[in-house]
Amino acid sequence: MIEKREFYINGEWVSPLAGRDCEVIDPSNEEPCAVISLGGTEDTNAAVAAAKAAFEDWSQTDPEVRLAYVEKIRDIYVERAEDMSKAISLEMGAPIEMSRASQTTSGTWHIDNFITAFKNFEFLRPLGPHAPDNRIAMEPIGVAGLITPWNWPMNQVTLKAIPALLTGCTMVLKPSEIAPLSSIVFAEIVHAAGVPAGVFNLVNGDGVGVGTDLSTHPDVDMISFTGSARAGAAISKAAADTFKRVCLELGGKGANVIFADADEKAVVRGARHCFNNTGQSCNAPTRMLVERSIYDQAIETAVKVAESTKVASAHLDGNHIGPVVSAAQYEKIQGYIQKGIDEGARLVAGGVGRPEGLNRGYFVRPTVFADVSNDMTIAREEIFGPVLSIMPFDNEEEAIAIANDTNYGLTNYVQSQDGAKRNRLSRRLRSGMVEMNGQSRGAGAPFGGTKTSGRAREGGVWGLEEFLEVKAISGWDPAAE
Ligand code: NAD
Repeated sequence: MIEKREFYINGEWVSPLAGRDCEVIDPSNEEPCAVISLGGTEDTNAAVAAAKAAFEDWSQTDPEVRLAYVEKIRDIYVERAEDMSKAISLEMGAPIEMSRASQTTSGTWHIDNFITAFKNFEFLRPLGPHAPDNRIAMEPIGVAGLITPWNWPMNQVTLKAIPALLTGCTMVLKPSEIAPLSSIVFAEIVHAAGVPAGVFNLVNGDGVGVGTDLSTHPDVDMISFTGSARAGAAISKAAADTFKRVCLELGGKGANVIFADADEKAVVRGARHCFNNTGQSCNAPTRMLVERSIYDQAIETAVKVAESTKVASAHLDGNHIGPVVSAAQYEKIQGYIQKGIDEGARLVAGGVGRPEGLNRGYFVRPTVFADVSNDMTIAREEIFGPVLSIMPFDNEEEAIAIANDTNYGLTNYVQSQDGAKRNRLSRRLRSGMVEMNGQSRGAGAPFGGTKTSGRAREGGVWGLEEFLEVKAISGWDPAAE
């Protein structure tokens, strides 16, 4: 059993001032695997005070100095990749091989992309030739509260902590109380890199406690949040009185529009993507819209993918999917599967209950519903489990209308070999991202959404800008530059 009750504040590991114990549950066997502390207001205050005190010096450092710290963090992150992969696998149930190949490496990918963006970033820019004595300065916003979820823990932590460090912000990270172990490893990495005391602080806690304390704290200048729409709305309201910047990365209900002329792997790819990480990805393509002429064939293929997707403990080697993260998520997903049946969708693979042979652990059967209509609950709400909804469409306009008929707007997907059609669709789908023919976004592309998916843009140049204030300066002396 791992015991890690301390918080990382002002450059050292300190005992909680007001903490209470909280068990971390291994979702593969439902057993406690670690004990952490959930902090109280005094802990948040201490961390914010440390971050505030460190801001003046850190914000004034030469950008090259900050870059050197981040490069050091990257090196140590790579050295500690196995510790990180084990922590993620244990806390949230990603199978160990997938944890190594995707979860941990998503962090390295983001750090690398931020380094590239930073090297070309202009913190001081001319306004234009019409105003030679004007400059636009991009300046760190101040103390940032970073609140992260459990599903891609290092993906989210690196998307926030690295740009905050690079831009000269100081910060308090509150990771998910369900998956805090990877963030503890991350704090050890930041410490080993020698980042000055107070610049990066970690306080474990829950949303009601440390999450709310950060959102309402007068000395916190911004909250960068990834998680549910419910918590995103609560944070926006809580942060209003202190006029914080609030950046929200929330859920999704991505449409995957598959035309009859799609490549032959399109349905397999879409179903696998939906089940990846046991369906616990905000950008999962959970609504598969299929052109009617290939509809029956697509259902058959998706069923084969579901039935051949192995489900097993996160601790076993192999390319299976693991459990979902918690008892609460398990129950929620079971409720959605039942609701799909009750509302008249055609269950063609999976269903309620655990997969055969698995009696303990939060394991869910990879499930496919056909003949889903877009007003059913399973088509409207984010399930966050391995559940795919398939529905037919007759023409391009209808596909666009169904895809856009959702409160969410994170990632939509298009599969067609007709380039002109793909280009049209990419501009008409209302979402922050559109990925087509299995091509993922390039390095440094912004991640984020519209509507209930939140409106943050993380990663690359846009991810740096989220942590910066824009200052307009006139009367600048170009000769003295
Ligand atoms: P959650 O909203 O319950 O928790 C996320 C974090 O917010 C946790 O650290 C939690 O402690 C904290 N929190 C909860 N309530 C809070 C409050 N009132 N004030 C302050 N903090 C609060 O979400 P979750 O269950 O951990 O994560 C799953 C959700 O995250 C899904 O909806 C998923 O789609 C979304 N997500 C979005 C993205 C994205 O980039 N758009 C990425 C990953 C996950």
